[in-house]
Amino acid sequence: MDFQEKTAVACDLCGGEDQSLLFVKEGFPHVRCLRCGLVFVSPRLGGHGDLQRLSGTGGMGEDRLTSSQLKRLRKEVELLRPFRQLNRILEIGAGKGWFLLEAHRQGWETWAVEINVQALDRLNQMDLTGVIVQRAEQFESPPGSVDVVRIWDVIEHLESPRQAVNNMFRALRPGGLLRLSTTNFASLSRMVNGPEWVYLNGADHIFLFEPATVGRLLEDAGFSGIRIRTRSFNLRRKLYHPERELPARFPLLRPFRKIIDEAIRFTKFGHQMIVTAIRPENAADAR
Ligand SMILES: [Zn+2]
Repeated sequence: MDFQEKTAVACDLCGGEDQSLLFVKEGFPHVRCLRCGLVFVSPRLGGHGDLQRLSGTGGMGEDRLTSSQLKRLRKEVELLRPFRQLNRILEIGAGKGWFLLEAHRQGWETWAVEINVQALDRLNQMDLTGVIVQRAEQFESPPGSVDVVRIWDVIEHLESPRQAVNNMFRALRPGGLLRLSTTNFASLSRMVNGPEWVYLNGADHIFLFEPATVGRLLEDAGFSGIRIRTRSFNLRRKLYHPERELPARFPLLRPFRKIIDEAIRFTKFGHQMIVTAIRPENAADAR
């Protein structure tokens, strides 16, 4: 397929084909499904699998973590202890592998689904239990074989989040936990910045979820106990870099940024959604 050729796509969440155009950024139309409200890029480029394999953001992530980042990861893994039955964690799009490394340190059997060549180089040097070299939409694992699935800032890149989530549901044992993170299109920082919002990158970020649409995605797959929190105001943050610079046109907000950052996690308007959901006991397999 011609990499530059763009193809119109139906809504991945509900199959609907009626869309309203929100805006065009850098040649990429961002549309909202008129049936379910999902925001996505259409028409979009083909070859997202190649993008993830060869460049994309799959190999990104920090080369070194700060002590506070390491502490946060340690705490995140510690909080998974109540789910430990099979002692198996699976991460979809493990990137530099920091999370799995910490899980390994805490005694978990660690599995990764990854296709990015840089990430695979790194993961192969680590002492992981296993790496499944398949796309998130296509990976196969024994049903009900893991306690926890984690997918962090990955789902917005996938050609079919719905298929990927169905696979994750199947991989989890009944009572197992899904942890998912993605950017929040309904965030205050997106509302303030409009199409300039730093996470709007139509070549790469092809799905822009909101609490309502990510909730429906997981519900449709069969998940229950869905909990959606948001964090960080993050008015403007350069992707994958620690700098957090406000554009000059919002100087008045600058003194309040820390306060807003603190307060926003009590709302649904933070820029990052952190979602947890449970595969119910005794549930039939997802579609
Ligand atoms: Zn839809």
